[in-house]
Amino acid sequence: MASPQDPSVSTRSVSGARQPDGEIALDVFRRAIEYVPVATSITDTQANILYVNPAFERLSGYTRDEVVGRNESLLSDKATPIAIYKDLWATITAGAPWQGRLVNRTKDGRRYLADLNVVPVSDATGAIIHFVGMHNDVTDLHQLESKVKNQDALITSVVEAAPVVIVLLDSLGRVVFSNQAYQDLKRETEEGEPADVFAQAFQERHAQGDKFPALEISVEAPNAERHWFSCSASKVHEHDMSAAGYFTPVGQSGLLFVASDITLQRQRYEQARTNAMRALVAEQQMAQGMREIVSGAIFQLQGPLNVMSAAAQMMERQNGGGALAAPIEEVLKAGGDALEKLKAALPHVADEPVASLNINELIREVLDVSIDALLREGIFVDWRPAKVLPNVPGRANALRTMIKNLVDNAIFAIKDAGGARREIVMTTRAPSSGDVKMEICDSGGGLDEAIRLKIYEPFFSAWKKTRSRPGMGLVLARQIVAAQGGSLKIDNLTPVLISGLTPGGCKAEVIFAATDPHKGEKSSR
Ligand code: FAD
Repeated sequence: MASPQDPSVSTRSVSGARQPDGEIALDVFRRAIEYVPVATSITDTQANILYVNPAFERLSGYTRDEVVGRNESLLSDKATPIAIYKDLWATITAGAPWQGRLVNRTKDGRRYLADLNVVPVSDATGAIIHFVGMHNDVTDLHQLESKVKNQDALITSVVEAAPVVIVLLDSLGRVVFSNQAYQDLKRETEEGEPADVFAQAFQERHAQGDKFPALEISVEAPNAERHWFSCSASKVHEHDMSAAGYFTPVGQSGLLFVASDITLQRQRYEQARTNAMRALVAEQQMAQGMREIVSGAIFQLQGPLNVMSAAAQMMERQNGGGALAAPIEEVLKAGGDALEKLKAALPHVADEPVASLNINELIREVLDVSIDALLREGIFVDWRPAKVLPNVPGRANALRTMIKNLVDNAIFAIKDAGGARREIVMTTRAPSSGDVKMEICDSGGGLDEAIRLKIYEPFFSAWKKTRSRPGMGLVLARQIVAAQGGSLKIDNLTPVLISGLTPGGCKAEVIFAATDPHKGEKSSR
């Protein structure tokens, strides 16, 4: 038989290949097989080789003359399990084609993985007379598949063992891959995909190239502590695997989040912050107490001095002061000096810069530092923060002091009333104006009509069981709120004001202004 390299074959015209009866001439098939790039052989029913094409010669290393008359088993390698051959023969002798993989050996002993198809050929009576074998060397493909599987196994084991949450979203925001740590987190959060929280946090961020700067993100878990993550995100560009995308691939990009749990560090930081806050509030309260006492002393001294001064002026006008003029002058001078000394002794209030503040955070900090007093008095705090709260401008320390004064008043009121119900309900709301509203409702005894109008007076205090308070808390609170541009209102509760609390308690309502009264600018959100 001519080889494909034979010019008489390669250049011979195939015109007239169709015979008069419409069949394609056998010679056409023979020449076609010569060119097929698949190692092809034709055998008798015992697998003795009758014909092999050039592709067979190239792959096996045997020439046609060397293999014709020999069995296909000359290609066999002992690495192929006997069960494969049994299956091959059971299938083809039953008249069905067989397809499978086996290990072959070339003439020079090189092993290769063959993807083999064997097709039985029957005569007109249906008896099998030949088998046609076609095989390809798929060693490279197998190596590639194995490499991909090995890499996949390696990546999976690294990703699973990594002590970080890893989750990949496709271009539609669907989770397409996640590791065990992510699945554990999802189980804990119970509802929805934590990846949505990550995606939302990065929504308005700008990527540097394909990477986004890391963010600290908290994920709520209903029956567990809130988790804090340091989360980084990067765009992942996917290769188009579709046939349609072979020539013109459609670029898809997903988002990969890698988040490490920093809850513990965050708790330590919060603890340190709370401790610092406690120290600051204690210091402020001490300074406030001193201011109240010194202011009280100034107030007490100023009255008699004013009277004496008026008396001295009267005496001066009537008889030139007389013999008492000099001692009175001395007393007034000593009094004036004492007043100046007292004024100088007033603790200095540091001038704080105005910042953009989240009232929920300030309330949480105040509750943290008030926790001991609340526990001591057995008071339950029902904290209902608005989920989304615009920031407002203000001086953080001053506003914390103001909120602390109001919480302290609620505690004193409950303590004074001595009732069974010991509850404070704190709420924040965000009316559409951009202002922020805070309410502190207590289950104390409320305000008597007789004192309702006096509560903002300096040194007015009606607590029965808390005598140490000089009655400057509300004066100060009102000053701080006014400086912020907001308003403070204290009123008796009615059942309509807040459900669940018995009438008779008090409600302190503070409106924090959206704009800084000194600048007239809106604060950032
Ligand atoms: P064998 O003794 O030849 O066969 C092993 C088992 O196969 C036997 O125990 C028996 O169960 C079954 N068997 C063998 N011959 C027959 C038969 N005539 N009737 C029924 N059952 C039988 N093998 C390769 O390793 N590589 C190839 O590329 C390859 N190509 C083939 C192409 C064709 C067209 C055909 C028909 C067979 C091909 N074979 C190929 C199979 C080959 O003929 C051998 O069966 C195989 O190589 C095992 O050889 P062996 O000497 O180890 O065992």
